[in-house]
Amino acid sequence: MSTLSIIATPIGNLEDITLRALKVLAAADIILCEDTRVTKKLLDRHSISKKTISYHAHSKLSRVDEVIVLLKEGKNLALVSDAGTPGISDPGSELVKKVRHELANEIRTGEIKIEAIPGPSALTSALSIAGVPCADFTFLGFLPHKKGRETLFKEIVSSERTVVFYESPHRIMKTLESLMEHLNGNSDHAAPKKVTICRELTKLFEEVVQGTAKEVRDYFEEHQDKVKGEFVVLVSK
Ligand code: SAM
Repeated sequence: MSTLSIIATPIGNLEDITLRALKVLAAADIILCEDTRVTKKLLDRHSISKKTISYHAHSKLSRVDEVIVLLKEGKNLALVSDAGTPGISDPGSELVKKVRHELANEIRTGEIKIEAIPGPSALTSALSIAGVPCADFTFLGFLPHKKGRETLFKEIVSSERTVVFYESPHRIMKTLESLMEHLNGNSDHAAPKKVTICRELTKLFEEVVQGTAKEVRDYFEEHQDKVKGEFVVLVSK
């Protein structure tokens, strides 16, 4: 039997890795990495020495075929991304889809297994500390830069659910401006919607900024030194 383990890794703090993830990484024959140099740091931190090969968003189909051959040969493979849970705005889901399709018989008979080794994700981490309704929510990944962006903002501000998305430091101010514009123009809501920014989660400068779109925009305008790092944006009631 061979296994493809989809392993969540830290989103900043290298100690945020489960005992099971470490055990599976140490036992894998090969680790498929988004960037082998990033994963090497994590492996070194936990004294794991292992063969790594790259698997990223632009990997050719031949790489998927290679994975399929390795699984058929009985190899245990682990897939990690640079940070967080593979497949969540990261490479992984296409590979899993293909393996499920190509090896459907072997999966059915139990010769091959795809398993989740759950752990950190910026999405769930942000939701867990934002103090916003999260019994149900909409996750948008990264917003498109151009096509469909305006429509999406309209949907975000009129959504009954909490909306969560990822944003880069280069676009966060632009995004806050757009949220301000759209939330001002939206008279459906008696109480103004809340915008929450979760920045640098699990890292030294982790912070949560919450308020109206204008309050949050003003905060980052005043603190330009904080317009860097990694951001999760939540728009909620
Ligand atoms: N697969 C990852 C996960 O499960 O969270 C997400 C990968 S996606 C390529 C990277 C984006 O996730 C960043 O641009 C940022 O929006 C968000 N992110 C990742 N780490 C973060 C952190 N420590 N704090 C805040 N946001 C983070």
